[in-house]
Amino acid sequence: MNVLVLAEHQHGTFKKSAFECITYGRRVATTTGGNATVLVLGPVADLSPLAAYGIASVIHLKDDALATLDSQLYTDAIVSVMHRTESGLLILANSSTGKQLAGGLAVRLQAGLVSGVNALPETGDGFSVSKTVFSGKADVRLTINSPVKIITLMSNSVPLSTEPVTLQIEAESLGVNPGRVRVKQVERVEGTVPLPEAERVVSAGRGMKGPENWGIIEDLATALQATTACSRPVADSGWRPHHEHVGQTGLAIRPNLYVAVGISGAIQHLAGVNNSKTIVVINKDPEAPFFKAADYGVVGDLFEVVPKLTEAVKKFKAGH
Ligand SMILES: Cc1cc2nc3c(=O)[nH]c(=O)nc-3n(C[C@H](O)[C@H](O)[C@H](O)COP(=O)(O)OP(=O)(O)OC[C@H]3O[C@@H](n4cnc5c(N)ncnc54)[C@H](O)[C@@H]3O)c2cc1C
Repeated sequence: MNVLVLAEHQHGTFKKSAFECITYGRRVATTTGGNATVLVLGPVADLSPLAAYGIASVIHLKDDALATLDSQLYTDAIVSVMHRTESGLLILANSSTGKQLAGGLAVRLQAGLVSGVNALPETGDGFSVSKTVFSGKADVRLTINSPVKIITLMSNSVPLSTEPVTLQIEAESLGVNPGRVRVKQVERVEGTVPLPEAERVVSAGRGMKGPENWGIIEDLATALQATTACSRPVADSGWRPHHEHVGQTGLAIRPNLYVAVGISGAIQHLAGVNNSKTIVVINKDPEAPFFKAADYGVVGDLFEVVPKLTEAVKKFKAGH
């Protein structure tokens, strides 16, 4: 089966999810005996980082009109490349971009769509993929029977594996005009890795008592080179910005390390974080539900534990 992978980038820098999708696409193409192609939309000066992950064929549509997400233009471009490459599988990241595009693409391509896929497919008898459901309480395996299939891939679902190749790049401009939707302004949070991309996350809840106490969370995050997150009531109270809110109604993330400080572990919070590889919980209440989902737990007052943990991390880093 031929596979097309959309490689997402930000201002020309490829996201980690792009490399994960390429790794995934290469492995599916190898297993099913097809060709794999990477699609890059919008201006990117340096495509060479793509060469590490084993798919040589790259189609680069360089139009300025594709520099920011425009669902109409992106959908048209992806549909045309799917036809041109005779691809049976489209792989998108399970990002805001991937999720925004997937539904419309499924209609246009008459494709079966599974979002939030978390492992390589089983291809022995049909094409089936797995994902978690019921707020992460259960796994489900779904078979896609349509000739064209689309998946959105959760981050951290496949370990990145390198296989250097020489890229064969078809670079062209479609000559597309700006779409009917105009992006007038994009405001980005600069300085830290965005939450969906973060390998390590330090998150805090109402146990912090107030926004003035967040310094200890930021110190721990800096020591761990982590991104900060928070529970919903914290964002609702305006203690932290809404883009940090994780959970059922916020972002769903899958970092390698999730440190939860003063968060009770309500089911709606866990829904967004319980697929993290390692969960560390700091809470003064030994009965806090979060401890059931924790790999490591510290029962104690966060105002004592967090600064000590930060010091320990700094000391460890200084010695290594
Ligand atoms: C439809 C719906 C959707 C929701 N979606 C979300 C969502 O997406 N994300 C989300 O987070 N919530 C969501 N919620 C809210 C959720 O149910 C919980 O109310 C919320 O997660 C609780 O936030 P918290 O753990 O920060 O606060 P609390 O429940 O108040 O817990 C604070 C914790 O801090 C601990 N603590 C207090 N002081 C200290 C200290 N000094 N040291 C150590 N520990 C301390 C306490 O023991 C307690 O466990 C949703 C609710 C509904 C109904």
